[in-house]
Amino acid sequence: MPDLLIRANTQKIAYGEKGILRRQRTISVSSNPRVKLVSKVSSPNVGWGRKQQPTWSASLTCFGIIAFCPILVFFSWVVLEEFHGSLIEALEALVSSSPWDFAAKYSPKLSLGATSVYLGWLLMQAVLYNYLPSKLSTGQLTPAGYLLQYYTNGLTAWVLTHVAFIASVYFSLADPAWIAKNWAGLLIATNCYGFLLPAFAYIKAHIAPTHAEDRKFSGSILYDFYMGIEFNPRFGKYWDFKLFHNGRPGIIAWTLINLSFAAYQYEKFGYITNSMVLVNIFHALYVIDFFINEDWYLRTIDICHDHFGFYLGWGSIVWLPAMYTIQSQYLAYNPVTLSTPGTLIILGMGLGGYAMFRSVNSQKDIVRRTKGNCKIWGRQAKVLKCSYITADGKKHESLLLHSGWWGFSRHANYLGDLILSYSTCAACGTDHVLPWFYAIYMTILLLHRCIRGEERCAEKYGEQWEEYCKRVPWALIPGIY
Ligand code: NDP
Repeated sequence: MPDLLIRANTQKIAYGEKGILRRQRTISVSSNPRVKLVSKVSSPNVGWGRKQQPTWSASLTCFGIIAFCPILVFFSWVVLEEFHGSLIEALEALVSSSPWDFAAKYSPKLSLGATSVYLGWLLMQAVLYNYLPSKLSTGQLTPAGYLLQYYTNGLTAWVLTHVAFIASVYFSLADPAWIAKNWAGLLIATNCYGFLLPAFAYIKAHIAPTHAEDRKFSGSILYDFYMGIEFNPRFGKYWDFKLFHNGRPGIIAWTLINLSFAAYQYEKFGYITNSMVLVNIFHALYVIDFFINEDWYLRTIDICHDHFGFYLGWGSIVWLPAMYTIQSQYLAYNPVTLSTPGTLIILGMGLGGYAMFRSVNSQKDIVRRTKGNCKIWGRQAKVLKCSYITADGKKHESLLLHSGWWGFSRHANYLGDLILSYSTCAACGTDHVLPWFYAIYMTILLLHRCIRGEERCAEKYGEQWEEYCKRVPWALIPGIY
């Protein structure tokens, strides 16, 4: 019987950015044990960032998330607006009537005013992204071997937007509580855009891809729509879909939404609680940190590994502004006044969590930037040299830090993030579960990230990743996980 030859990756010639000729290698596998593998794909693996064969249950899960999450967003608003933040009361009302009656009675209505303002908001952020002076920052090599540059002018966009907001309130041109008062209409508008965006990305990926070799096709329309096909969809050379949508309209709105709900609390009750101030401070810290370190964001999973579909598109346009601000929304309807010791404890915990989050992320960043020639906690950084292969067959070197926080556990940055998340929710007291949504969600998200990220690193670095895990055996908290 002739050798069975499987051409895993046929010889292809493609043109990358700047017309660089790119050649993909051939990997041939034979059923005859005497025939050697032309190319070994074990360690490190050329297929990292590419394999994708969803089971039918994975596709069904995507469908569930696409259908259920928007309902959850609207339901949370109904719980706050109609049931004083009480999930139990809302669920009782839902069970005692039919879901259709419940939806008919409480569903938010389309508002032309809110929709127009939202479209104006998107346009304004797109203009700021495109025209504000910006340095060009460099991302990481994509699986197909592209090294892309990005506009990183987010901090200026954030400052200008907030100055405009505060000035328009100061000169009585705008109602500071407008966002809070028009929240229902805004939720409808963001959801419409949040669905149109991945649909557009899906079509674009098929008919006008930016980097065709970096696309992922799974064979499942649902899975492709949810997880995305294109890695870095762009308009022109620099207008990056992923960075813009992940890092602008939703995240800049985050602090404005909190401010607006604080104004709403003031309008309703005549005062602003210390809990509301804490929530605003913690979230502002997180958002400003994001923009000061926008360059760092280019080396995180969102930008380096996730493709652009419903998960990132709808997630950053709807989920983030609607669900991450639940604490300030809750406090606007249910003011919580903390005792002075309570305030100080929560403030200390939150600042501690933030300091840890920032310090861990900075350690990774500085090690990668200096190629390991730096000190971590006063000592020479300990790094494990590792390598990976891009689809053009080229081998690249990388480093895995295993001292400082990164010797403590493999995801100490997630731990810092979680401490900050729980502190923010603690400011809302323990009367209701809903304001704790953010902390519960972040726990699930980040634990899932531990698994997802490690699977990908194991594929990318092979045995070198195993060696790293031996040196840093704990994923999150030493002795526990
Ligand atoms: P990381 O910033 O930890 O990035 C993970 C990547 O870093 C890995 O894929 C690997 O990439 C590289 N890496 C892993 N271990 C090491 C090491 N020891 N030394 C050097 N590089 C290493 O994770 P995320 O991108 O998930 O998160 C970034 C931050 O954003 C976190 O602090 C997280 O808490 C926060 N976050 C917040 C979210 C929110 O919604 N609020 C959502 C998600 C994250 P490579 O391929 O380059 O080797």
